[in-house]
Amino acid sequence: MDKIQVTTRSHTEFIDITRKVDEILEKHSMKEGICYIYVPHTTAAITINENADPSVQEDILHDLNRMVPWNGHYTHSEGNAAAHIKSTLVGSSVSVPVSSGKLALGTWQGIYFCEFDGPRRREVFVQILKSE
Ligand code: ZN
Repeated sequence: MDKIQVTTRSHTEFIDITRKVDEILEKHSMKEGICYIYVPHTTAAITINENADPSVQEDILHDLNRMVPWNGHYTHSEGNAAAHIKSTLVGSSVSVPVSSGKLALGTWQGIYFCEFDGPRRREVFVQILKSE
C-alpha cells in the first residue's frame, strides 16, 4: 500500500490529489485494474468531482457547511460533530478503474481530499489492485 501525505491549511477545504495518485500508479506500471483510495480519518473524506472550474468545489464546500453548520445541536463533546457528519456524508473511499495504465477519470474529474476539521496533517492510503 502507498500513502500520500496531505497538509491542510484551512478549517474546511478540498485539495486536488489526482496528480499524486497518478504518480503512485505510474510507479506500479499496472495496465488494467482498480485504484482504491482511502482516507483513514473520521473528520475528513474523499470525493471525485469537477477539476476545471474551482468554483464547483467552493459551492460544494459552501453548501456542506450550510447543511451541517459548525454550531448545531450536537452531543459529541469534542466539539467537532459537524466534521464527523460531513465525513460520513461524503465518504471515506473512492475506487477508480485503471485502463491502459491510466486512471479512467472523465475529462472534468479530479480526486479531492476533503478537510472538515483542519488545518491538520493527514494521510491518504492508495491500494493498486491488478486484474488479469
Ligand atoms: Zn470528534
